[in-house]
Amino acid sequence: MKKRVLVIGAGIAGLSSASYLQRNGFETEVYELHDKPGGLCAAWERNGYVIDGCIHWLMGSGASSNLHMIWDELGAGSLRYVEHGEYIIARLPDGDSFTVYTDPDRLEAEILRLSPGDRAFAKLLSSKVKAVAKADMPAAFDRLKPGEAARLALAMPAMLGVFARWMRTPLQGLVDGLKGEKLRKAFSILFGESLRDFPAGALFLMLGFMAKGSAGYPIGGSLAFARAIESKYLELGGKIFYGAKVDEILVEGAEGARRAVGLRGSWGEARGDYIVSAADGRDALDRLLKGAYAGCAMDRAFEAQKRYPSLVFFGLGLDHDCSGLPHAQVFELEEPLVLEGGALKAGRIMLRLFNFDPSLAPAGKTAATVMIETGNDAYWTGLAERDPAAYSAEKKAAAAALVAAIDRKLPGFASWVETVDVATPKTFIRYTNNWHGSYEGWLPTSTSVGAKLPRTIRGLAGFEMVGQWVNPGGGLPPCGMDGRRLAKKLCKAEGRRFKAE
Ligand SMILES: Cc1cc2nc3c(=O)[nH]c(=O)nc-3n(C[C@H](O)[C@H](O)[C@H](O)COP(=O)(O)OP(=O)(O)OC[C@H]3O[C@@H](n4cnc5c(N)ncnc54)[C@H](O)[C@@H]3O)c2cc1C
Repeated sequence: MKKRVLVIGAGIAGLSSASYLQRNGFETEVYELHDKPGGLCAAWERNGYVIDGCIHWLMGSGASSNLHMIWDELGAGSLRYVEHGEYIIARLPDGDSFTVYTDPDRLEAEILRLSPGDRAFAKLLSSKVKAVAKADMPAAFDRLKPGEAARLALAMPAMLGVFARWMRTPLQGLVDGLKGEKLRKAFSILFGESLRDFPAGALFLMLGFMAKGSAGYPIGGSLAFARAIESKYLELGGKIFYGAKVDEILVEGAEGARRAVGLRGSWGEARGDYIVSAADGRDALDRLLKGAYAGCAMDRAFEAQKRYPSLVFFGLGLDHDCSGLPHAQVFELEEPLVLEGGALKAGRIMLRLFNFDPSLAPAGKTAATVMIETGNDAYWTGLAERDPAAYSAEKKAAAAALVAAIDRKLPGFASWVETVDVATPKTFIRYTNNWHGSYEGWLPTSTSVGAKLPRTIRGLAGFEMVGQWVNPGGGLPPCGMDGRRLAKKLCKAEGRRFKAE
C-alpha cells in the first residue's frame, strides 16, 4: 500500500515536497489555509492591475544554472523569465545615480565612474561575481551529464571561497573601507540599515546568478509561478485542500517512541504515515505540537536566529506606460515617510515599476510596488482588532503619504496614480500565518548563512519540516530544493529509488 504524506501549507516548499513525493509513489495531500497556492509567493488583483507581492529575482530562472532543473521538474521552468541588465538604480542626492549592472564588467566601470579611487573594491566585486557566475549551486547534480558535472566540480572551489570567507563578512565592513564618499552613499541608499548584517557573499551570490542570466522574474508574476507548480502537482494526481487551516499535528505513542500520525483542523481530521510542516516553523512547534518539544534542538536553533521583519506593502496602479523609466530605483527622502502613528519613519523608498510585464496592467498602464519594512506587527494587528475603521483610515493615510513622498522626488507621479492597495503585517499574518508577518523567515547574517537547522525532532518520528524557517536567508530556491531532498530521504527510508520526473 502507498505511504501517505500530509503536507501543511501550499507555499512553494509545501508544493515542491508534495510534488516530488507524489511522483515517487507516495500518496500526498496538502492542507492550505488560504484559497490559493504560493504562500508568500503571491500576487493579487486590484482594479484591473495585478499587484505582485514577491519575486524580484528567482535563482535558477535561466537554464545556465543547475537549479533551473528543479523549477523545470516542478513545472515552472518553461515560463518566460525576464533577466534584467540593470538590477537597480540608486539615486544620489546630487542628481547623479549609481546603476547596479548585472554584467560584472559594466558594474566595475560604473563603480570607477563614481569613485575612481576604489579600483580595488571594483575589481574585488567583479571578480567575485564572475567566480559565482562560472560556478553554480549543485541543486540537481544527478541530472547533469558527466562532462557538465566535471565542469561544475572544477568551478566549485572559487564558489566555496566566496562562501567560506565572504558569507562571514558583513557588507558594512567593505563599504566602510571605500574611499569615495559618493559610492559609500550609494551603498547606504541601496541597503539602508541592512548593510550592517547583510553578508558581502550574499551580494556576490545574487549578482553572480544575475550575471549568468539565471536570477530573473517570471512574466505573469509570482502567482503564475506558483500556479505552474500547483498545476504540475495536480497533474501528477496530488490533492490540495484550500481553506483548510491545520490546528493540530496528531501525535501518538509513548514517551520516547512518539510518532506524528495526522492533522486536525475545523475541517476534520486526516491520518498519514509522514507529516511535513511547510508552514511557519514557530507555529508548528508552539501551537500545532502544543509546545510539547520546547527546548528541542529545532527550538534552540530558532532562538539563535534573527527574523526578517514584516512589511507595509504598497501596490500601485499607474495610468502611465512608464516606458523608459528604470524598473527598479531607490532614493532617499528629504522628509521621511511617517507611518504607524509616528513610530516608523522610512527615509528611503524602493520603487518597482512593472513596465517589463504588460500582463500586470491594462494597455498603456503600469503596476508598481513599494515595500517598507516594519517590526511592529502588533501596531497593525492591535489597531485592526480595536478599531477596524481606524485601521482602514491608517492604510488610506499611509497610501496618500507614500504617493506624496514619491511625487516630491518624481514630479507628476501623483497624477498617474489611479489605485493604491496597502497590505500590512496583519495582511501577511492573515494570508500566510507567518510569525509576526515575517516576509522571508530568518535573516541572512554573517553568522546564519549556511547554518544547518534541524528539520526533524528527536523523539518524534514521522515529522519533517521544510521551507524558509529551516533555511536561514529564506527565499524560493531552498523551498524548491527542500522538496527534492525530502523525497530522496523518504524514498531511501522506504527502500525506493528516487526519480526526479
Ligand atoms: C515582498 C516579498 C518579496 C520577496 N522576494 C523574493 C525574491 O525576489 N526571491 C526569492 O527567492 N524570495 C523572495 N521572497 C521570499 C519568498 O517568497 C519566501 O521565502 C518563500 O516563498 C517561502 O516559502 P515557504 O513555502 O517556505 O513559506 P510560505 O510561503 O510562508 O508558505 C507557507 C504556507 O503555509 C500556509 N499555512 C501556514 N500555516 C498554516 C496552517 N496552520 N494550516 C494550513 N496552511 C498553513 C500558508 O498560508 C502558506 O501558504 C519574497 C517575499 C516577499 C513577501
